Amino acid sequence: MRLVLLGAPGAGKGTQCKNIVTEHGLLHLSSGDILRQERAAGTELGARAQSYMDSGALVPDEIVIGMMAKAIEEAPASGFVLDGFPRTVNQAIELDKALAATGLKIDAVLNLKIDDRVVAARMTGRRSCPQCGAVYHIENLKPKIKGQCDHDATDLVQRPDDSLEVVAQRLETYHRQTEPLVDYYKQNGTVYEFDAGESVDEVKASILEKLDTLDKTRSADAVSN
Ligand code: ADP
Ligand code: AMP
Repeated sequence: MRLVLLGAPGAGKGTQCKNIVTEHGLLHLSSGDILRQERAAGTELGARAQSYMDSGALVPDEIVIGMMAKAIEEAPASGFVLDGFPRTVNQAIELDKALAATGLKIDAVLNLKIDDRVVAARMTGRRSCPQCGAVYHIENLKPKIKGQCDHDATDLVQRPDDSLEVVAQRLETYHRQTEPLVDYYKQNGTVYEFDAGESVDEVKASILEKLDTLDKTRSADAVSN
């Protein structure tokens, strides 16, 4: 299955991707994580992305599209779930073209709907492990030991772009440049909407139920063809 997870920053895309990956054996491809890895590795691409990320703007399409096309090319045949990409209609068009060139397409788009006021509290309370990438929240998803990763005991960090000022800019960027994608996908494919304001487990259950139904439909179609 090839999936796109849409939603405002802080809606819970990364958190839910981890569940989808575990249950459905798909590769999790997060453009934000890949950009942060490029920056940490000190690559030219990372350096070019830096100022955009720190200010809450989008990294230009010509940087991101090539980077994600490469990651998708290397994905296993079992499929992938895209998190944070595409983020502009142009990125979505280029993604569709790249997939179509190899006879593939996006099977489903999952849209996590959330109120801006909830997002701000989620992002400023987000903490992550610089070692394994696990994501926590100071109130909603606490690690067992305060400030330490459950998996490897590494000290948790706050992303610099999760400050209140940058969060406000990222939300503005989301509404202006990314939200129009929902309509793009409604016209071009199948969008399933989820109330991302519910608890992590409730959102997880709704998504997994939908994916199970999709899986069964795909299996039945494969048998009848
Ligand atoms: P995104 O990938 O969409 O930016 P994350 O998955 O990193 O969002 O989640 C943002 C923050 O909100 C994290 O600190 C995470 O632990 C927390 N979070 C995610 N989903 C929920 C939820 N359903 N309820 C409460 N907190 C959540
Ligand atoms: P995220 O981890 O998804 O919140 O992304 C962090 C930052 O990386 C964003 O605020 C953007 O600056 C940049 N970024 C991530 N994905 C994209 C994308 N698809 N297009 C442009 N910029 C992106």
